Amino acid sequence: MSLCTNCGIATDRCNTIGRRRLEDEMILSIVQEWVAPQTVNDNDFICQACWKHANAISLDKSISEESVRAPSIGHRRVCIHCGRSLLRRVRCHQLRTGEVQERRIHEVIREWILPRTVGASSVICHSCWVQANKASRNFHSGPSTSGSSSLVVNELNSQDIPHLEELPTTQGTYSALSAPIIGNLIVLPDYYRAVETESRCFVEGCQGHERNRITLTMRKQLLKMYNYYVPANNRLCDIHLTCTSWNFISDISDNIINTFSANQIQDMFSLKE
Ligand SMILES: [Zn+2]
Ligand SMILES: [Zn+2]
Ligand SMILES: [Zn+2]
Repeated sequence: MSLCTNCGIATDRCNTIGRRRLEDEMILSIVQEWVAPQTVNDNDFICQACWKHANAISLDKSISEESVRAPSIGHRRVCIHCGRSLLRRVRCHQLRTGEVQERRIHEVIREWILPRTVGASSVICHSCWVQANKASRNFHSGPSTSGSSSLVVNELNSQDIPHLEELPTTQGTYSALSAPIIGNLIVLPDYYRAVETESRCFVEGCQGHERNRITLTMRKQLLKMYNYYVPANNRLCDIHLTCTSWNFISDISDNIINTFSANQIQDMFSLKE
């Protein structure tokens, strides 16, 4: 699955969406402004619609610095998790934090989409909502409140053509002087970590069903050899529990997470002892 770095649309879902690598320096720097504090490089790509906006800005010398900075997105109402467009009568859910269940789902999605962040107007499609709802039951040990309803929106207006929309200004400001902080998370550029999950084998894309606990020795080794942190309660399938080489970890370029909570960083220190 490949998502547009800027608007999040899944570019491989439909071949009319198109994708462009951020090879052009000018376009790269415009997109960088748009997605800050997230960082992009020339290996990232954006959808054709976002590319058109960026290209128009790069060609138009009369456009002021200010309007370059105003984020512009090619596709709006995109599932923040799977990247499908939610414009055409697709059942979708607003990510809210009002009720307990909504907060749990919000938390699960936040974890799933790292290092991207959930915005005030973020939406997910119904199938991602179902998955997140399921996952949220394993995510917390607290009492389950399954069955409580959340808002379902049926969107059938707005045409499915690319257009500009201002992003909510809820993103924190980015200071080059301090270590990058996203929400309460800290970015450690040289370390990365597994998704925190007890519901499945944490190896990205693994379909294994077993949920063996990872051993302390293994966690220490992964941290030492690969700078790869695995949370204590994470699970592994039988194959990954016994696999001896973890070289594939460094090939996972799609889903690198290098944001850490304070607790995770403290835990990493204890693994180094
Ligand atoms: Zn896009
Ligand atoms: Zn989705
Ligand atoms: Zn596995």
